[in-house]
Amino acid sequence: MQTHNLGYPRIGSQRELKKACENYWAGKITRQELFQVGNEIKLSNWTLQKECGIDLIPSNDFSYYDHVLDMAFTVGAIPERYHSVIFDKNKSEIDLYFAMARGYQANGLDIKAMEMTKWFDTNYHYIVPEFKKNQEFKLFSSKVIQEFAEAKLAGFKTKPVILGPVSFLLLGKEKEAGFDRIDLIKNLLPVYFQILDKLVEHGVEWVQFDEPFLAMNLSIKDKEAFQSAYSQIRKKYPHLKTLLATYFGGLYENISVATSLPVCCLHVDLVRCPEQLDELLGNRPKDLSISLGLIDGRNIWKNDYKNSLNLIQKVLRKVDPEKLFIAPSCSLLHSPCDLDSELKLDNDIKSWLSFAKQKLVEISDLKKLSKSVNVPNANGLESFENVFSDIFNKNQEAISNRTNSSLIHKNEVKKRLNNVLDSDFERKSSFQNRKIVQAELLNLPLYPTTTIGSFPQTKEVRKVRADFKDGRIDKQNYEQFIKDETEKTIRIQEEIGLDVLVHGEYERNDMVEYFGERLHGFAFTQFGWVQSYGSRCVKPPIIYGDVYRPEPMTIFWSKYAQSLTPKFVKGMLTGPVTILQWSFVRDDQDRSVTCNQIALAIRDEVLDLEKEGIRIIQIDEPALREGLPIRKEHWEGYLDWAIKAFKLSASGVDDNTQIHTHMCYSEFNDIIGHIANLDADVITIECSRSQMELLDAFADFKYPNEIGPGVYDIHAPRVPSKAEIIELLQKAADVIPSEQIWVNPDCGLKTRQWEETHKSLVEMVLAAKAMRELV
Ligand code: GLN
Ligand code: ZN
Repeated sequence: MQTHNLGYPRIGSQRELKKACENYWAGKITRQELFQVGNEIKLSNWTLQKECGIDLIPSNDFSYYDHVLDMAFTVGAIPERYHSVIFDKNKSEIDLYFAMARGYQANGLDIKAMEMTKWFDTNYHYIVPEFKKNQEFKLFSSKVIQEFAEAKLAGFKTKPVILGPVSFLLLGKEKEAGFDRIDLIKNLLPVYFQILDKLVEHGVEWVQFDEPFLAMNLSIKDKEAFQSAYSQIRKKYPHLKTLLATYFGGLYENISVATSLPVCCLHVDLVRCPEQLDELLGNRPKDLSISLGLIDGRNIWKNDYKNSLNLIQKVLRKVDPEKLFIAPSCSLLHSPCDLDSELKLDNDIKSWLSFAKQKLVEISDLKKLSKSVNVPNANGLESFENVFSDIFNKNQEAISNRTNSSLIHKNEVKKRLNNVLDSDFERKSSFQNRKIVQAELLNLPLYPTTTIGSFPQTKEVRKVRADFKDGRIDKQNYEQFIKDETEKTIRIQEEIGLDVLVHGEYERNDMVEYFGERLHGFAFTQFGWVQSYGSRCVKPPIIYGDVYRPEPMTIFWSKYAQSLTPKFVKGMLTGPVTILQWSFVRDDQDRSVTCNQIALAIRDEVLDLEKEGIRIIQIDEPALREGLPIRKEHWEGYLDWAIKAFKLSASGVDDNTQIHTHMCYSEFNDIIGHIANLDADVITIECSRSQMELLDAFADFKYPNEIGPGVYDIHAPRVPSKAEIIELLQKAADVIPSEQIWVNPDCGLKTRQWEETHKSLVEMVLAAKAMRELV
């Protein structure tokens, strides 16, 4: 039996890579210094995994920005618009790479970044590969080979992780009409062969191909592509040990495809879909090794060894131990690094948890524990419990302590949820009626302008917040500082001429953490960072218990901001689905129950805001779409409770209170009916990178409520021109009646600098004014 890992967090346990990248982008460190940080992270990850008892350690799981971009870069799928960067002097390969990720505005060039979207149902974002009809591929970067060689030199014989050719193509997008990207496999495979040739030259033994699409709905053509690609790989490299990794769900109807592929080992996610084990065992060709994804790579709960050992034992009845691998369910990219760094967590809660490093230990524990019983006997599980094992007993103690903890269960919360009425999910009147009273009260111009909520979180803002949190400054000084920032922001918005203002969210470190800290049932880590995109990380709260709101959370700042100006200031809240989605959620009750508990807490806040005179309340749900299960047949179930939870949070208000919601980049086509069913008075969406394409779904549906398609990208510092915003707004007005259109950036501005923010908003307001003239 072997232990292996599918991937380790690459950001560094103290976010070293984030800091290095950002310093490099700001011109503060050299390329060499950046690479040095990267190399140190790789080395320390390999060392740690070895020390923790992992037999097969991954390489090429590291990335300076994103592993999908890495693959596009490796196979030379570099859109033409970046070719000029190659010729820009003083720029190297890594600059071209970052230009693709972040856009490029220098030396007279102004090139937009590639599109970014969510990695399956996670909160990780990848760069979407772009393909043309006659797309050619060539081996452009040798990162995979270099990392293997680097590890080898350091004494680690690693298993390179390569995004499989089928998933790579499926993750991308056709940039012109008239072809199907999966047909590009013929052109693509030769480059994979070149990579494998070189790896073989360097003495590689195992290669891991990540094919998460095997857990998704596939077309016949996709399935054929799998067959053809892996048959060719087998034929060309009969001695190469290939591990095919699937994750984030079950194989279901793809099981026969997956088990018929000529690979040496198939990895399955038994956390998301334990039911698939029986079918896998039934379908498995004799020679196929299997890798059991037992340890949850997507959550932070301690593994229940009893469950895992049961599964292992079941497998050992049919499979030779040499053909068995144990692993996390997916890459540990989605887990925080190290629980040991957490010094402030409640001890009970801490004893229920396991982060990436601890998960490695769990994997190796399971191997040790199962060794003593690898000749299965009729008693099955009994044999484990009777094995004297400190490790096992300690694990079981933590598991049962969690089940019975009074920290978790609050009766009043459960009771309140049980007593919720159907009418609590609906607004008092229809949108058609609300629209009239809202228009009368708000009296906004056509194409009203607004922003999504946050304004630049400067170094100083972050420092003062941290100083307050750590007790270095007192409450009075802290509040004065935030008040000053808020007032400055209100004045700037007034001066720019925005119609609906925001307070800027300076008091918030993070849109979920801020609320979690004020709700019961949430715990917080100090260093539990997880990569979100590029150098950006999030620190998800841990929802361990029943949720309720002990006291108001946002009233003070919203009221303060509103007191400064006659214009309307939006109250800003994070919605229940997003709070759920961006947290580590308890796994001891249905997600929908936890979500509704949060919804009731937000509902209380909405009603308090309304009572305090806030007329417009935005409930952000950027994570609603990413919560969709990866298989269509599971969508309805999710959407049913998710949409209802939002409505439960929003529907208590009177007709003349305007409810906004905001969603980041999402394809709406297939869920537009549900989005309409949210019945938010206004929805703002991220749209600019897709050139308003996303609006078509709303247009086709004749979406009745108001909508603010984002008119410029906030992920990069690039300043849009008035003309280009007008062009986008005209595109919008072509498909949506102008009375329904709001004008706003794609998302919050907290990651931007003031300089570009100010300039961009000025252009935006000018564009909106120009649009009004046209009507
Ligand atoms: N109101 C939040 C902000 O502006 C929304 C962020 C988001 O959608 N991710 O920062
Ligand atoms: Zn957003």
